[in-house]
Amino acid sequence: MSEAGNKIVTELIKGYYRFHRGLSPDRVEQREFAFGSFESKIAFRHIAFKRPADLDKYLVENGPPFADYSAAYYRFPDARPMERKEWLGSELRFDIDANDIPTQCKLDHGKEWICEKCLVAAKEEVTKLVEDFLVPDFGFSEKEIEVNFSGNRGYHVHVRDPRILKLGAQAREEISDYVFGNGIDTDAFFKVDAGVGARGKQLGPSPSDGGWRGKVAKAFLEATLSKEAMTSLGIDKDTASWIFRHHDAVREQVGMGNWDFHPIPNRQDVLSTLLHTQEVKQGNKIDRNVTREPSHLIRLPNTIHGGTGLVARKLPSMAALGAFEPLKDAIAFGKGELRVRASSKYALVLNGQTFGPYKEEAVTLPTYAATYLYLKGLADVLTAR
Ligand SMILES: [Zn+2]
Repeated sequence: MSEAGNKIVTELIKGYYRFHRGLSPDRVEQREFAFGSFESKIAFRHIAFKRPADLDKYLVENGPPFADYSAAYYRFPDARPMERKEWLGSELRFDIDANDIPTQCKLDHGKEWICEKCLVAAKEEVTKLVEDFLVPDFGFSEKEIEVNFSGNRGYHVHVRDPRILKLGAQAREEISDYVFGNGIDTDAFFKVDAGVGARGKQLGPSPSDGGWRGKVAKAFLEATLSKEAMTSLGIDKDTASWIFRHHDAVREQVGMGNWDFHPIPNRQDVLSTLLHTQEVKQGNKIDRNVTREPSHLIRLPNTIHGGTGLVARKLPSMAALGAFEPLKDAIAFGKGELRVRASSKYALVLNGQTFGPYKEEAVTLPTYAATYLYLKGLADVLTAR
């Protein structure tokens, strides 16, 4: 990074905002805004705008590398300290980061690099979050769910259902624990029906149950279609063969919640493994804070991510997520070229083209590829062309 390079990128960002206005979120006058520099993602905060045009003007004039806004609505969003803002409510947000998802490609490129496969995996977690949890289990409508590419390694999901606006930190944490499968006791899925048989009958989860019980039962039945799938859940070979041979009977029994069809010695472990295959993947505490903390700040949709030069693109609908290709569709600086000295260990694939790897070489690249490498600290801008 250099002063000259930062200046060139700042001009590019200003140019982007000149042609992309109307980036205000709903209830702009009640949101806190924060802006980042090349050194710090949040350099200035407690900023408020009365009208959408004021935010547009700020972006064009300053070209900030990062623009964030609050999950919260406040009566006085620029007041300090936080208590004086007078909290009115917060949307519910989730941060799905490719770094937290164990993908095969990480064995090649480690955690510091991001590739298309990482982003496909993140997209799958978003689909799971929305379609397996937020819509069926919480009853949110897809119209109230907004999905945005983060501009770097994943996606941000926003829920604006009026019922969740006033939830406090603890309720938000419970929702987070539910979708990320934290602290779920699979023992509680079973109860012994003492009225049936001498041993009592184990009544457990059935696929028609709601929530986690139904998800685990369905995933189990799906696994019974293949011996390999069962052994990968930790079921021993003999038991897997027995279940496979009696598949129809097992399906019928589990359909009624009866798990006494055949002893699975380590049933609780198998259920835990099933649970982990169904949960939404999320790793670190910082991501969990996004959901838990009602005053959290997150990237403003359709603004530039100053760590990549890509747009934190807002998806028009959940249906659009499937065809969305972030490394093509989120390119901001599509015009021109820049000469850079690049040094990158991995090939960068952007806009369907491959760039590098580079070993301390001077190359002329499309502006979007040059800025991506520059902002990742893998290139120095030599001259604008
Ligand atoms: Zn990858």
